[in-house]
Parts: sequence; C-alpha cells; structure tokens
Amino acid sequence: MSHEAKTAESAVSSQTPTKTTYNLPRPKPAYYPHENSPLYANRALYTAIHDARKTLASRHRCEPRSGIAVRIPAKSIFRITTPSGPQVCDLNIWSFADTRERFWAARTRQLHSAHLSTFDRLWSNLPFLRPLCTITHDTMAASGARHDEHGGRVHDTLGTRCDPYVDKLISGQDNDYHCHSNLTRAVTRWGLGEMDVHDVLNVFQVTGLNEYDQYFMETCPARAGDYLEMFAEVELLVAISACPGGDLSLWGWGETGEGEEGDMRDCCRPLEIEVYSLDDEAAVLKGWSEPKVVDYRGNHGLKRE
Ligand SMILES: [Zn+2]
Repeated sequence: MSHEAKTAESAVSSQTPTKTTYNLPRPKPAYYPHENSPLYANRALYTAIHDARKTLASRHRCEPRSGIAVRIPAKSIFRITTPSGPQVCDLNIWSFADTRERFWAARTRQLHSAHLSTFDRLWSNLPFLRPLCTITHDTMAASGARHDEHGGRVHDTLGTRCDPYVDKLISGQDNDYHCHSNLTRAVTRWGLGEMDVHDVLNVFQVTGLNEYDQYFMETCPARAGDYLEMFAEVELLVAISACPGGDLSLWGWGETGEGEEGDMRDCCRPLEIEVYSLDDEAAVLKGWSEPKVVDYRGNHGLKRE
C-alpha cells in the first residue's frame, strides 16, 4: 500500500482527464499472448496442479501489522490466505539459492497485466528473467477478475509497499510498522536486509488509475478464507507483510491513535501462508521442468579484448 493523494478532486496532477482524438487504431498489448509463447503458462498443466491431491505441509501465521519470511520448497504449492477477513498483503519473493534473483514487478506488469490472477507468472529480475512462481488459483476471481466501476482491480503491481520514509516526508511522524519495515525485520533471520526488500505484489489490494492517471486504492474486499495460490517453480524465500493500513477502510497507520486514524487497529487482521506438497508429484508434474534463466550470451555490446 502506498499513501498517495486521497481524492482526485484535491490532488495535483500533470495529467488531464480530457482525451485527445487522433483517430489512431486501437493499440495492441505490447506482449500479446500467443499459443506456445514461453511467456505464458500451460493452462492445462497449472489447472491440473491446482486440482491435484495435496497435503498441507506447514502453516505460518503473520500477525496483524507484522511480517514473516518462509522458505518454500520447489514444486510445492503455497497459498496466501486471509483467515479472519479483509487484509492487504505486501508480497516479496526471492530465489532461495541466489537471493539476488527476486520478483520483478515492473516486467511482470508488462508481460501479463497490472493486476494479476490465475495463470499469471511472477517473473524475476535481470540477469535472470524466469518465472519464480505461477498463480494456480485466485478465490477473488471466481467469477472473472474483479473490475469495478472506477477501474479498480485486485492483486496490484502498480503500487509498492508503504514505507516509513514517504510517511515521514508527508506526515513528519516516525512510524515503524510499515510493510517495508515489516518485510525488513522478517528477512533478517535469513541473512537479508533492507536493501533486499523490493517492489511488491499487493495481494488482496484493489487499485487503479483515475481519470488524472493517479493511483488509487479501495477497501479490501477479501473475505475470511480467500486465498491466492501459487506453484513454486524454484525453491523460494517468500516474505509477506500484513499492512498496517489493514483493510484500507480507514486512513492512517494506527501508531499514534490520533485524529483520522481513530481505531484503525480494528481493521488490521492476520494473514497466513499455507504450504502444500503434491501427493503424486511425478504424475502431476509430468511435462513440467524447472524454468531456466534466459541464456543471453552477449556482453551488452562491450568488446572483449
Ligand atoms: Zn503497507
């Protein structure tokens, strides 16, 4: 969650809501999907993974306004859940074998869409570029991915984590339980630190761009028991933060208890990560192989003497 302008009416923007007509043809998506493209998941395979018999291997609770980081074995399935009702989740992912490889929100947004759902893949940064995991089920998209009258959609890559620096800049306060800080504390036990925390997937968060092209957020519509399910393509370190903005029904961070923040701690709830193993991995994953990093062999135009 980021703490941007509250209303378009009161906000300053370089952009205008007025559209210009050049009579241009309707643009196509830049990375238009086509059959057998390496960018897109084999839907039959990932449907089979979701449908397969699986056993719960571990469950990890993330208390309200905190973070956890969990090692996820390759070829397992993990779910991020809202056990007690609506709560926004900020997600970071690294390859466990080499944590320099991590989720790349911007490229994922280009390759798929600005909001993610079933069959989208979470791609890693350069010089790696491979899917770290693939979404196999999304309970919030049961009747088609959410798309509301304001353009709001769920599971957001447009924004990033809330952080104490922008908060201090705006409010003058020192608040210590932003998602950036929750993720930072969570990864320290794995030998990572603040500089490893990266742009997130905002799970369960509804966002969009208004007529001024400005980022907005809406109240989280998740219910108790909703989940986003992913297949780990490689061994992962997965960190989540239960955003101190809670379900985003109130404005504030709940650390001062003053003014508009009111009793916003009441809208902060826990999250969980459930890790499942496939009962018959060999049969279900027939036809699957671990994604390889892209085999680019050039040297960026640098001459080798
Ligand atoms: Zn947050």
